[in-house]
Formats: sequence, structure tokens, C-alpha cells
Amino acid sequence: MIDNYKATVDKSKNKWTMWGNLKFYLRFIYNYDRKLFWEMLLYFIPTLTFTYIETKFPAVLVESLQRKGSLIQLVFMIGAVGLVYICAKAACFFLYEMSRERSKHLHFYVSEIFLHKMQDVDYELLEKQEYQEIYAGAWDVANTGRGIRQGTETIAMMLANGVGTILFGFIVGKSNLILFALVLISVSINLYLLELARKVHKRYYTEISKQAKGIQYISEITIDSAAGKDIRMFQLLDYLLKKYDENLKKMDEGFGRIHTAYGMRGLANAVICFARDGFAYFYLVSELAKGTISVADFVFLFGAISSFASGFEYLIRNVMRWHTTDTPIGVFREFLNTESSFCKHTSLSQTEFDELLKKGLEIELKNVSFSYGDKKEAVIRDFNLKIASGEKLALIGLNGAGKTTLVKLICGLYKPDSGDIFINGINTNNLTKEEYQKMISVMFQDAYFLPTSLDTNIIGAKQLCADEMSRVLRLSGFKEKYERLPHKGDSLLVKKINPEAIDFSGGERQKLIFARALYKNAPLVILDEPTATLDPIAEHELYTNFKEAIGNSTAIYISHRLSSTRFCDRIVLLENGKIVEEGTHDSLIKKEGRYAYLYEMQSKYYQDEKEKKRRIQYMEGEA
Ligand code: ADP
Repeated sequence: MIDNYKATVDKSKNKWTMWGNLKFYLRFIYNYDRKLFWEMLLYFIPTLTFTYIETKFPAVLVESLQRKGSLIQLVFMIGAVGLVYICAKAACFFLYEMSRERSKHLHFYVSEIFLHKMQDVDYELLEKQEYQEIYAGAWDVANTGRGIRQGTETIAMMLANGVGTILFGFIVGKSNLILFALVLISVSINLYLLELARKVHKRYYTEISKQAKGIQYISEITIDSAAGKDIRMFQLLDYLLKKYDENLKKMDEGFGRIHTAYGMRGLANAVICFARDGFAYFYLVSELAKGTISVADFVFLFGAISSFASGFEYLIRNVMRWHTTDTPIGVFREFLNTESSFCKHTSLSQTEFDELLKKGLEIELKNVSFSYGDKKEAVIRDFNLKIASGEKLALIGLNGAGKTTLVKLICGLYKPDSGDIFINGINTNNLTKEEYQKMISVMFQDAYFLPTSLDTNIIGAKQLCADEMSRVLRLSGFKEKYERLPHKGDSLLVKKINPEAIDFSGGERQKLIFARALYKNAPLVILDEPTATLDPIAEHELYTNFKEAIGNSTAIYISHRLSSTRFCDRIVLLENGKIVEEGTHDSLIKKEGRYAYLYEMQSKYYQDEKEKKRRIQYMEGEA
């Protein structure tokens, strides 16, 4: 049952047929630019006009000369046909250039679709290796427009060649079925060889996407200032360059294999065409010698066979070229096909939802289990916990106990493998993503900032309210820093994008993240190690302001500093994804169990540190 809503990655291969991809692309171009769509589809009319003139005109000329008609009539006919020919050529040129120009920025449209879809992708999938391949491939398509931009030209040519092939095929077939069959057989062999080459392309394209992802990652981290210090201090650059070269080499090998496959097919095609055309010429010359066809017929059929054959050849070439568009489309459609595990339609009215936000949140986890990926061992095991509305709950445990995983489950970033999570009695499976996200404010340790103003980073999607801003700055302890900034709330963040952006210390960053979490004013606030990088004074301030800052909201406070959780209503101690103890600080100390033991160990460390300082002061005569 659970699989029905748990985030899914459907990896069934070759799901995207060529015909399906073509229909998808046509719809896509139609939505992007109607003019481009029609230019692409109508290109065949002028192309076919001048090709037909090129084929038929020599025969008409031969016939006129044989009839020995008037010279004026002949000149007039040549002039009229010449005019149509020039107009058709000009129209072809115009349509070709216009559509090339229009499709230049097509990949921005693909990127926009990518970014919209990305919002809908479950966080859980982003961490899955198999899914990373899918979205890296799709991003490569969106970012470079690889294959997508050329698609309009390929379709225009395929149409022109296709209609031309039908027309000249009909002319040839009417005159001689053997010749017609011969061309068909040669084309079938070509198509089969093309399919083999396509398979090679598909296989190596997936491999190449993996290498491209590796190269992109290495490029990104080498220019990232955060990674920069580790790269320098641990001399990692040589290793990264080696990996970069390895990936590049594998990519080259992949491209080499693809080109070889298409090259071999091209060679086979040339041999087949040579044999077919040789036979056609031999046959027509013998028919002319027998007198079954006239010289004008000979010239026309000669031209028609040549147009039929070259039409076919270029049709195949463009069908082959279509694969360079078809494969990226398949990759992109695979990404678009990702199912979101969230409920699509709300079961709550706006009033009911507003009431829910005002009321405060009661959260209940019932028999929840969760494991990462295909790992058999659950990280959260048959977990039951009820947090009352307005309760301040401390979640503690050693590293790897499952605290962060539990928080991500409560936030809806992960979905349980089994069991359910209820918010005010509503199963969270029945909430939409937007509803869910509005209810919760989280202070993650690895918070992300947008390369925009400080104020925008704090208020997020909400409106700026000066009083509220002042309140959260005071309660988070960030006010002093904020006031000292020359541009205050207009100061820019993220140096990579804005060279004039400001840098914050770890502690200042943490206060800023806390301010952001408070500004959201959500009925559930989750704080993941909020004091990890704070100095003792800032830490003390946060504890003092905690009750006022959180107000009536329900709060989950994660910390490894046990003393900091004393002001919470209840403490829950996690071990291996299970609750091993719970209660107030005093009751847990009295119990003399695991919590008491951990608390004693930490206190002892602080006592030892205090003792050491006192001894140094004594030795130096300061005590
Ligand atoms: P805590 O926050 O208590 O330190 P976590 O919830 O981060 O613990 O981790 C619990 C367990 O899950 C650990 O054994 C950890 O190695 C594993 N884990 C955490 N994140 C992932 C992940 N993205 N993929 C696989 N295993 C993970």
C-alpha cells in the first residue's frame, strides 16, 4: 500500500518511444512559439516546389526542343519556371533562418520547465543515487539545450524529405515496381542499421551523463569557497584533477563509440546506395534502347529516381539526426515523469486550514518505520510519539541515533516506509505539500541562503513587517549585528554571486537562521542544534528568550548539550531509532538511567574544564 504514495523512480528502460517523443516535442514547440511551430511544419512546401522543378524541368525542356516550338514560348516558359524556382528557394532560406533564430533560446524554456518540476520532486528522491542520475541528465538537457534546439530543423527536413520521397516514390513506382521495391529494400536495411546505431547511442548517452555529472561536481567544488579551504589544507586538488581527467576520458570514449556506430552505419549505407543506383541506371538505359520509353521520360525518370533515392537518403539522415533530439527528450521525459508522493488536492477548506494554523499543532507518529534506500536495517523503528499542542519537546541522543531522520520525517521531507504521521488528527498523507510546508518552520544546521538581500532571506515568502522583523531580530540575538551593517536589511548575501556580499561568522549565521525560523511564525518550530556554534553568552540569551520566541507554537528542540534541554516540557532520549527514555529533566535524573549517565558525563567534562582553568589561574598567581 505504502508504495502507492512513497516517492517513486520508474527506471523501466526504453519506455519513451520515438513516436511518443516526437508528439511530446511537437506539443512542446507549439506551446513555446506558434510561429516557430508553423515555420517548421510548412518548410516542406517551398522545398518540394524547387525539388520538383529541378526534376521535371529538364524533361519538359527536352520535350519542347524535340517539338521545335516557338522560341518566345520557350523563353517565356523558362522565365516563369525560373521565377517560381527563385521564390521557392528564397522562401526556403527565409523559413530556415527565421526558425533557427527562434529556436536559439529554446533551452531557457526547457530550463524553466525543469525548475518548475523540481519544486514538485520529493526531497527524499534528491538523495537517491538512481534519481540523481535522472535529474542530472535532465538538467544537462535543460542547461545546454543539447539536441533540443536542432529538433525543429530536423523535423522540418524530415517532413520535406518525407513528402518528397512519397511524391517521387509514387512516380517511380508507377513506372516500374522492381525499381521501387529495390529502393524500399535498401531503405529497410538502412533503417535496421540505424536502429542498431541508436541502441549504442542510448547506452553511451546514459554513461556520458554520469561522467558529465562528475565533471560538473568537481568544477563546482573547486570554485566553492567553503570547499576551497579543505581542498587546500588537505591537498585535494591533484586528486580532483585526476578524477576530472578520468571522467573526461570516459566521456570521450563514450562519444567515440557513438560516432563509430553511426560511422559504420553510414559506410554500409553508401555501399547499398551505390549498388541500387547502378542497377537503376542499367535498367533505364536498356528500356530506352528497347524504345519502351521516350528520351523525355528517360530524363524525367532518371531525375525522379535520383530525387527518390536522395530524398530517402536525406530522410534517413534526418531520422538518424532526430535521435540526437529523441534521446535527450527521453531523458527529460523520464525526469518529468517523477511522481510526487504528496497529496495533489486538499481536503481542507481555506478557513479550516487557517483555523488549524491558529490552533497550534499536535503531532502523532504511529508505528513509523523508515530506512534509507534499499538498506534492510531501519533507522527509525516502529516509532510511536505524541507531541501535544504547544509542548516544547527536547529530542536528544548520540550521533546517529536518528534525530535528524525523525525531524525530516515530521517535516514531510521523507515518507515513512510504514506507519503514519498525524497532525491534529489529520493523516499527513492527506495534506498537500503547500499545506504541510506552511505549518512548519525549521532551523536546519546546513541552512541555505539566497543571493539576495538579508531581509528577503529572513522573511522568505512572507511580507516585510518592520515590527515583526524587529521582534525576531531581538529574540534571535541577531539585532546588534543587523544594526551594525552599513546597509542593514538591504545587505546582500552569497559572495559567489554578489562580490559585495557580507560574510557571517558561524554564530552570526546561526542567529540569522533562528531569526528566519521565528519570522515564519509557524505553529510547529523545529530547532536542530540551534546553539552548536553560539558562544556561551549568546547561548544563554537564546535559552532566556526561548519561551517568548516560540510562544504557543509546538517546538522540537534537538541538542546534544543536555543542560540546554532543561527548559523543555519533556525530554525524549533516542537510541538506534527508538525511544529509550522520556520525561522531564528532574524525573530522568532521579531515574538514574541512561539520560542521567550522559548528563553526568557532560557535567563532569565541564567541571574538569573549570577545574583546569582554576588551577592555571592559581599557578599564575591570579586566583
Ligand atoms: P542523528 O541526527 O541522531 O545524528 P541521523 O538521523 O542523521 O542521526 O542518522 C541516523 C542513521 O541514519 C545513521 O546511521 C546515519 O548513518 C544514517 N543516515 C543518515 N542520513 C542518511 C542518508 N542520507 N543515507 C543513508 N543513511 C543515512
